[in-house]
Amino acid sequence: MIPQEFEYSAPATLQEALGLIDGGERKVLAGGMTLIPLMKLRLAAPAEVVDLGRVPGLSGITEAGGAVRIGAMTTHHDVETSALIRAKCPLIGETAGNIGDVQVRNMGTMGGSIAHAAPAADYPAALVALEARIHLVSAHSDRTVEDSDFFIDAFTTALEPGEIVLDIEVPLEDASEGHRYEKVAHPASGFAVVGIAARIKKSGGRISMARIGVTGLGPKAFRARNAEAILEGGGDIAKAAAVIGEGEEANSDIYASGDYRRHLARVHAARALTVAASRAS
Ligand SMILES: Cc1cc2nc3c(=O)[nH]c(=O)nc-3n(C[C@H](O)[C@H](O)[C@H](O)COP(=O)(O)OP(=O)(O)OC[C@H]3O[C@@H](n4cnc5c(N)ncnc54)[C@H](O)[C@@H]3O)c2cc1C
Repeated sequence: MIPQEFEYSAPATLQEALGLIDGGERKVLAGGMTLIPLMKLRLAAPAEVVDLGRVPGLSGITEAGGAVRIGAMTTHHDVETSALIRAKCPLIGETAGNIGDVQVRNMGTMGGSIAHAAPAADYPAALVALEARIHLVSAHSDRTVEDSDFFIDAFTTALEPGEIVLDIEVPLEDASEGHRYEKVAHPASGFAVVGIAARIKKSGGRISMARIGVTGLGPKAFRARNAEAILEGGGDIAKAAAVIGEGEEANSDIYASGDYRRHLARVHAARALTVAASRAS
């Protein structure tokens, strides 16, 4: 449980941090909730670690241009308890409150979670349902990618060597819409066996907009567009939930088979959509 020897640096500015990781040889450290255990298990053995903890301006939650901007180093706890998030994009706050336990939420960061892109991570379900944008920077580049272009596969994102997540832009939810994050937590780790992020808007008593993000079921989070179309076309929640995961690759492991995960996703999608619909005005 002792990591391989490594060099450590703690830059004091973003420019310095980006300069150090330029070339992609060094690994950045955020909350350390994933990287440190991987290093202790020797599943990761970076020669040099660059701690982002002292770089100013990487954490914080602000509103600008119709979106809430969440700095990459913002902890899950700060996302969960932010009054701005509760008022303007509550789905992401509810999702943050479902991550791991208190210690993990106090240390783990949103940037670290999405950069790691674990198939069972919670945030990606909410980010795809909210159609978020991810802001990436390196010493030579500055670009923003859509959530669907960012999450590529299990543990694989659009991040290029030398690039970091700077912040995440989450479009504001309409005040009239309802939301819900429902999760089946693994009893040991707390990770999502499946997790469903749902948003519902109503018009004249009917569902006019549905967004459904699914995590844990497949290698990466995805939007259940087939179920969204059923709801937006006047179909009911039971019919929509029944098609979740159709045509999608399903993860299978010693805890849950692919078929069981698909079943759980459908049951919990129905629950999430029912609560989201009841919260929509
Ligand atoms: C016991 C336990 C339970 C957990 N339960 C859950 C759960 O229920 N749901 C869930 O979603 N997660 C869970 N997690 C994971 C947790 O959310 C982590 O916080 C997260 O995966 C990693 O965030 P971090 O800030 O700790 O990143 P780190 O561990 O510091 O880094 C993780 C990876 O991301 C890279 N990285 C970090 N920041 C950036 C950045 N800004 N730009 C580019 N790359 C970056 C690092 O180089 C590293 O490769 C759990 C973790 C533990 C230990």
